[in-house]
Amino acid sequence: MLGLIMNRQLTITSIMEHARKFHGDAEVVSVTADQPLHRYTYREAFARSARLANALARLGILQGERIGTLAWNDYRHLEVYFATSCAGFVCHTINPRLFPEQIEYIVEHAEDRWLFVDPAFVPLLEALKHRLGCVEGFVILGPAGAAAKTTLRNAVDYETLIAGEPDTFDWPELDENSACAMCYTSGTTGNPKGVVYSHRALVLHTYACLMPDVMSLSAREVVMPVVPMFHVNAWSIPYGAAAVGAKLVFPGPKMGDGETLQRLIEGEGVTVTAGVPTVWLALLTHLDRTGKQVPSLRRVIVGGSACPRTIMEEFEHEHGVHVHHAWGMTEMSPMGTFNSPSADFDTLSSEEQWAQRLRVGRPVYGVEVKIVDAAGKELPWDGVSFGALKVRGPWICAEYFRIGKGDAHDDEGWFETGDVATIDRRGYVAITDRTKDVIKSGGEWISSIDLENTAVAHPAVAEAAVIGAYHPRWDERPLLCVVLHPGEQLTREEMLAWFEGKVAKWWVPDDVVFVDGLPHTATGKLSKKDLRERMKDYRFP
Ligand code: AMP
Repeated sequence: MLGLIMNRQLTITSIMEHARKFHGDAEVVSVTADQPLHRYTYREAFARSARLANALARLGILQGERIGTLAWNDYRHLEVYFATSCAGFVCHTINPRLFPEQIEYIVEHAEDRWLFVDPAFVPLLEALKHRLGCVEGFVILGPAGAAAKTTLRNAVDYETLIAGEPDTFDWPELDENSACAMCYTSGTTGNPKGVVYSHRALVLHTYACLMPDVMSLSAREVVMPVVPMFHVNAWSIPYGAAAVGAKLVFPGPKMGDGETLQRLIEGEGVTVTAGVPTVWLALLTHLDRTGKQVPSLRRVIVGGSACPRTIMEEFEHEHGVHVHHAWGMTEMSPMGTFNSPSADFDTLSSEEQWAQRLRVGRPVYGVEVKIVDAAGKELPWDGVSFGALKVRGPWICAEYFRIGKGDAHDDEGWFETGDVATIDRRGYVAITDRTKDVIKSGGEWISSIDLENTAVAHPAVAEAAVIGAYHPRWDERPLLCVVLHPGEQLTREEMLAWFEGKVAKWWVPDDVVFVDGLPHTATGKLSKKDLRERMKDYRFP
């Protein structure tokens, strides 16, 4: 017997229409390349999205075709998000920090018909313009005249493109399984792979993210996504904020600038923000140096790479801000796990509470997880057994664009994340490594992330990376590479002594190399691949 319930399609359009009708007065505030502080409402945002949709229809864009963006977080990018998806096109956000050859590959692989570009990235594209054959034209995300000087073909500025278009659009009735957005993963090997999100997946993901033990957004929250809109849809914050009518604050090109972030938090009353650990270092350093405060801020969501305990403690002790650790992937839209306290949290000792909080949290309802050993056998949830982490769920990538299922997809519908994890008895997951980064010492696994977190907890250490280096007896042993804070000094022996009692004896790195800087990927994560390449001739003393 079937249920007798209406089968309304779950689409991004339904989020936009709901926000327009019920949260039209909620504000969207942005820093942009051309304006220090732009301010308007959701009502105005969606009227301009309608104008853009009319303009795109006039350009002859067809259902399912891709519109690429290379842009920071601001109101024009928000308008592009909704206009493209709701008109039946695919919003393909591109990470502008990728190497030009990768950007070229991605644009051509996705066959983007038009590219919407922040003025700052125009020179990058001008260098590639003879090669992006699929792109008909470029829209410069700026005021009238912003496209005047570029040599990009068919360039037009955004404001001129949408000027004179009607404020309404006949939004099509879309199938919830049709594509609405797209993002390429900058994998560690091979070419980037395209993940294509459906309307249904992102609507379900939005509901999940809004839950109280997840992002818990509401009409009374002021949300500032510092995670870029090109990094997995800014972790769905633009959709979630619109669905509940939360005020949105966008830092534009000033993402990594502690001073701007503080000013926006204080000036706009930001209550919750989200981003990778490095941006929080920039904010905390600024607060520390200037004595400035973030009085309205209550929660920070940290994901993308492991959040060191020092960041959590500083936010909490100095500023009264609760840090939530979260984990996900481009292939997971991105939310996989989110750390909120368990029911018995208050009965735990302080160290047990920290042990829970440093884990990346429990799977968000909708995501299934398991850990397996090398033979594919499921491992127990005892908090110590390490295994390859597999996931499945209604917002997890079933196959890659024009590639099909990857090696990571198995026959039972599980996706292997490439992460190594433990799961404790309450279901809290800890990411101990990337499969490729885990150190295999005499057949036993050592977590490079645990060692890095221990190292950065030392007050003299600014950043640390641990890789496996060749060892004649153990095959691999951990080698610690350390960047010190300016003016700090530390010897190899002092650094190694710091690990005593903090990790198992046989985990303590065999050597320390002090370096001026560490290589990072385009999303700001440590690039172990490049570090291994740099250290390939290293031999233990
Ligand atoms: P991306 O697809 O670029 O978002 O990268 C996803 C990968 O980032 C995951 O597979 C993890 O390796 C890593 N990652 C994301 N969040 C965390 C976290 N909270 N702790 C450790 N690693 C993380």
